[in-house]
Amino acid sequence: MLRATGSLFGLAYGDALGKPTEFLSVPEIVARYGHRGPQDLDGDPALVTDDTQMALAVAWALVDAQPTEGRPWSAATLEPPLRQRFLAWARSPQNNRAPGQTCLRACAALEDGYRWQRATVSGSKGCGPTCG
Ligand SMILES: [Mg+2]
Repeated sequence: MLRATGSLFGLAYGDALGKPTEFLSVPEIVARYGHRGPQDLDGDPALVTDDTQMALAVAWALVDAQPTEGRPWSAATLEPPLRQRFLAWARSPQNNRAPGQTCLRACAALEDGYRWQRATVSGSKGCGPTCG
């Protein structure tokens, strides 16, 4: 668990560090921050993006579905908590960090009760066609 926590902290820190550059081009990033990019967190508290929020939803779903003796992780045990965590994220007032339309559409389909495979947005050029 400690290694997972450290990995998630690193993810969140890097995400928050890069957040101000999310919609900038490389020349714009270089002009604003130099060739090394941002070196300090912006804001107090520095905010993560929807990417970390969704990664945390996955992490919490894995905790929720933690294997027990005779009940290992499987699609059947992981899907319900993953759906619940993604829907909680989608409804959260903290979901105000420029989430992609593909993620939001997939979460809306999950909320409407579609099966995971049907909730996806096939053909999307976004990185969240399975709400993640
Ligand atoms: Mg994002």
